[in-house]
Amino acid sequence: MERKRRGGKPPYAAKRKKKKTDRVEFEAPLQINSVVYSRWKVDSNLYACRVLERKQDAETGRWQYYLHYNGLDRRNEVWKTRDEIQTNVDPSLVTKPDKNSGHGSHGHSENIQQMRQYKKNVDAMIIGSHKIECWYWSPIPSEFEKHRVLHFCDFCLNFFGTQKELSRHLRICSLSHPPGNEIYRSEEDFGTVAVFEVDGEKEWIYCQNVCYIAKLFLDHKTLLYDTNIFLFYIVCEIDELGAHFVGYFSKDKFSIQNNLACILTLPPYQKKGYGRFLISLSYELSKVEQRVGTPERPLSDLGCVSYQRYWARTLLDCIERNNWKNMSLRQMEQETYISVSDIKETFESLSLIHWVNGEHVLCLSDQIIKQIRGRSRKKKYRVKPCQPHLLRWHPPEQNNTNEYQAGSLQA
Ligand code: ZN
Repeated sequence: MERKRRGGKPPYAAKRKKKKTDRVEFEAPLQINSVVYSRWKVDSNLYACRVLERKQDAETGRWQYYLHYNGLDRRNEVWKTRDEIQTNVDPSLVTKPDKNSGHGSHGHSENIQQMRQYKKNVDAMIIGSHKIECWYWSPIPSEFEKHRVLHFCDFCLNFFGTQKELSRHLRICSLSHPPGNEIYRSEEDFGTVAVFEVDGEKEWIYCQNVCYIAKLFLDHKTLLYDTNIFLFYIVCEIDELGAHFVGYFSKDKFSIQNNLACILTLPPYQKKGYGRFLISLSYELSKVEQRVGTPERPLSDLGCVSYQRYWARTLLDCIERNNWKNMSLRQMEQETYISVSDIKETFESLSLIHWVNGEHVLCLSDQIIKQIRGRSRKKKYRVKPCQPHLLRWHPPEQNNTNEYQAGSLQA
C-alpha cells in the first residue's frame, strides 16, 4: 500500500536528509585527546573541548564523546553526540573561558591521564523530590556505574540502580532522620531545620554514603573513606515524613586546629544560606570547645567563596559590636574563634590592611562596609546563621547527653 506523504514536502527532501544521516554514520570517529568545539549549556557559546572518551552504541553504531571544556571546571564535562560537536571552526567564533566567572578550572592541573581516569561515572542522583545532575567522579562500587542515575533513600542514604529497588527499600527502611543525636533545631520562615551529629565509627555505612554523595559534587581533595575519625554534622529540612538531607560538614575528632574537614550543600539547596549556616555552626562548636578553629585546606572553590564571605561579615560585625575601637587581631580571634591567620587573610584579600606611620592599620571605608554587607542585606536567605541559644551540644568526649535525642522526631 502506498503511504501518504504528510505536509507539502517534495519526496526528494526526505531522500536528501537520509543521505546526509548516512554520511555521518560512516564518518571516522573522533580521536581521543583531539581538540574539538562544542556549545556550553550555560551560555550557548562555542568553546574548545578535549575528547576524553568515546563510546559506540551497539545497536545504532552512533558514537558519543565525553568532552572536557578547556579552562572550565570539570563539573561541566559532558557526553555529546557527533552532531553537537564541530571540528573546523573559525577561531573568532570560539569563546575564551572567563577564569573569574566561577566556572573556571581554579588552577587544577589538567593532566589528561587523570582526567580520563576520573570521568563522571554517575550522570544524576535522585533524592527525595530532586533529580540532581552530578558534577564529578565518585568511588561508588563499579556495579552501579552501568545505571548512570542513582536513586537514594533520603533518610539512610543507601542507593540503588533503579526506582523499583528503591521503592522496595522504602517499604522496609526504618529511618526517618540521620542516625545520630539532634543537636540543633530552628524554626525558619519556610519550616524547620535540624542538625544531627553522626559518629563516623558507629554509623560508618551511613557516613560512607555521605562521602559518596559529597564526592559527586567535590573535586578538590581526596575524601577519606575511613570515616572512623570523623563526626558528621548533617543538616536537614524537616516535614511530616521526616528529616531530609540538605548538606553536611565533617569534623576530625582528633584535630586540634581544624574545626571542619569537608563541607557540602546539595545543589538544589545552594545559595539559600546553608553554607553560611554550616560554617557558623562549626564556629559555634569551636566556641563551646573553647578552641580556635580553621577549616582543613585546600578548600573547594565554592567553599572558599562561602568562607571569605562569612569571615568578612563576622569580623565586620565584631568590630561594630566593639564600637569601631582599635582591636588587635588576637582580640578579634578571641571573640569570633576565627584564627588570626584567617583574619589576616580576609583583610588582605579585601585590601583593608595599610602601612601607615610605621604600623599596619585596618582601613574600613564606607564603600567596603557596604560591599561586605550588601549581598546579605539584599537577599533574604532560606535559613539564618546558627543561633547559639538553639544549640544543644557538648564536646563528645565530655558528655554525650545532648538535650535533643535521636528519635525525638515524629515520622
Ligand atoms: Zn533508607
